Amino acid sequence: MIQPGAKSLRKIAVVGQGTAGSLAAASVTRLHPDSDHELHHIYDSRIPVIGVGEGSWPSLVQNLQELTNLPHETIQQRLRGTRKYGVAFEGWGRRNQDFTHYFTPQQVSYAYHLSADLLTNLLHESTRARRIDAKVTDITRMDSGAQVEFEGLPPERYDLVFDARGFPRELDPERHIDLSFIPTNTAVIRRCPAIVEEDRDGLVLQHTYTRAVARPHGWIFVIPLTLHTSYGYVFNRDVSTLAEVESDFDAFLESDGVPEFEQRAVIPFPNFAHRQIYDGAVARIGNAAAFMEPLEATAIVSAQLQLGMVLQIRLNRPAEHLERDAPAVNRFLINNMLCYSLFVGWHYSCGSKYDSRFWRYARDHVWPRHREAADPAVVGCDALRKFDEMLELMNQTVIDKTDWERMCALPLTSYAQISQGLGCQAPVWEKFDIG
Ligand SMILES: Cc1cc2nc3c(=O)[nH]c(=O)nc-3n(C[C@H](O)[C@H](O)[C@H](O)COP(=O)(O)OP(=O)(O)OC[C@H]3O[C@@H](n4cnc5c(N)ncnc54)[C@H](O)[C@@H]3O)c2cc1C
Repeated sequence: MIQPGAKSLRKIAVVGQGTAGSLAAASVTRLHPDSDHELHHIYDSRIPVIGVGEGSWPSLVQNLQELTNLPHETIQQRLRGTRKYGVAFEGWGRRNQDFTHYFTPQQVSYAYHLSADLLTNLLHESTRARRIDAKVTDITRMDSGAQVEFEGLPPERYDLVFDARGFPRELDPERHIDLSFIPTNTAVIRRCPAIVEEDRDGLVLQHTYTRAVARPHGWIFVIPLTLHTSYGYVFNRDVSTLAEVESDFDAFLESDGVPEFEQRAVIPFPNFAHRQIYDGAVARIGNAAAFMEPLEATAIVSAQLQLGMVLQIRLNRPAEHLERDAPAVNRFLINNMLCYSLFVGWHYSCGSKYDSRFWRYARDHVWPRHREAADPAVVGCDALRKFDEMLELMNQTVIDKTDWERMCALPLTSYAQISQGLGCQAPVWEKFDIG
């Protein structure tokens, strides 16, 4: 296939070698049609990667197969992974009943629970790049490209730079949209012994789910890998103290029968979307572009979307369309991040089985801010309208077949399962017009 944009994409930089940067470097290697393109993979080995990020979406399964050319089974073994068929919610909503958010088609489509470190190792093997270990001090757009400045090295000019440097140091309302309707901002990570058993060849075929367990100060994720089980307590440090959270975490592990754990990290995080994800020469991807708490594991899938959109449009469209394409791509990506964040924030709208300070704060004070925070005049896109339309569909007594394919970043089936599971509206299966 002729890719007219490839001619104007000769020299590319990826800055960062976390999950997002590693995906980008492997994708450029795989997708660039000319083998003589130049790719610089830049990272600062003194700045650690986040390293958590062990839940994914089904699109990663196909994506990794394309990037590595390895069979699915080998990839899963290399990731010490399990097959994730959805998220099992415990104690959420007003129905006092546990429920599962399955990928669609249910019980068929699966993603990976994976080791983030092993994922980057795997991707590095599929990357052909000059690796540069240096601190980047600035990335600036210039005529038909971008300049990267380094500590201790001369600057370099590139046709396209993927900026995957992780979270911004602080949020600036001019540059970032504050997703202030998400009520959590910190996670305590612990590692516990594995609870799934590998077969002799290291492959686990059993269906597994990320558990998302409501707790008085937030919720706990439980992610089963074959190496270990990853636990994370996600909470709001302005509402609960770390000591309160640690103590409830201990109680949870004890009641779950977990004999021992290794304390890994306490990670503060912002909930935000960058207003300029892509400007034609610089593409922010991964945690540099947007982040929201990990309830629906939206980070890796967002990075896939960001870099996939940018790379495809740059390769497949002639350079003269660049100026017109860039704002449209940027708007699309922001809109998608906003839709994800509304979907995630909505999970708190019906509270949980706990009538605690955190859950009252989340349900009664934080979620109601979503209309103001996602106002099109503030965010420059119509994600709120699309989200409202999905909720309106949930309220209808019958959902017409013509609406079954509707999406707001996620498919209608995801909205239906969460709506039903939380007890937002009447049972959803009664609404689908199956006639
Ligand atoms: C508690 C928690 C749970 C999560 N769970 C999930 C999950 O289940 N699923 C999921 O998809 N995601 C999850 N995530 C998100 C996960 O963090 C991201 O998917 C993933 O880590 C992507 O990070 P990144 O590559 O953008 O940035 P990072 O991992 O932060 O990597 C940044 C890279 O940039 C480099 N760098 C930084 N500054 C410079 C500089 N100035 N010069 C040169 N190099 C630089 C660093 O060396 C590093 O290589 C979770 C996040 C948190 C906080």
